[in-house]
Amino acid sequence: MLFIVSAPSGTGKTTLVERLVKVTDHLRMSRSYTSRPPRGDEVHGVDYNFVSRARFEQMAAAGEFLEWADVFGNLYGTHAGETDKYLQGGDDVVLVIDVQGARKVRAQNVPHVGIFVLPPSFQVLEQRLRGRSKDNEDAIRRRLQVAREEVSAFEEYNYVVINDALDLCVERMKGIVLAERSKLARMRPKAAQVLGTFEL
Ligand code: 5GP
Repeated sequence: MLFIVSAPSGTGKTTLVERLVKVTDHLRMSRSYTSRPPRGDEVHGVDYNFVSRARFEQMAAAGEFLEWADVFGNLYGTHAGETDKYLQGGDDVVLVIDVQGARKVRAQNVPHVGIFVLPPSFQVLEQRLRGRSKDNEDAIRRRLQVAREEVSAFEEYNYVVINDALDLCVERMKGIVLAERSKLARMRPKAAQVLGTFEL
């Protein structure tokens, strides 16, 4: 199963999903490719696969991405082959991607479950963006402006989670994953096995 998590930047979605995959069996986070340079203590192959813009464009032209988008002037993409490999291996995969990327996945009719994470309020988001002080004033303003546009996309998703408290939010997201795994359509083959033991 493919899960897509989107949220405006500064909502804490990466921390949330990192926690979520730690506490949920058979769930892994996809590692995106990006043309943006590493920030702070980010590590190649851990936080992102950092590649040059030219290499990214080459990969995009070769159709290697399930989706890709230009976010704040940098390119970000989900590798189709890597995502498929995890899914074939029996794990569920979470993509932490922006609203444009989610739309591209939806447009291809790739089955997935969308989760939108909202901050408790615009004011809290602003405080968080200023607090992490990774960006200059211009960048913060740009992120806030994009956030204003992105939050209105929440209705395109299947679930909405408000990140008011980290632990609670992780719990809600795990609840969503477990509930999705228990849906009748997904459980039918396993249920049939159990029913087989009843010799019905
Ligand atoms: P940041 O540069 O702060 O790590 O990420 C900026 C934005 O890019 C975030 O909204 C993040 O969700 C989005 N993003 C990260 N990876 C991908 C990806 O593979 N595809 C798309 N469409 N967006 C991504």
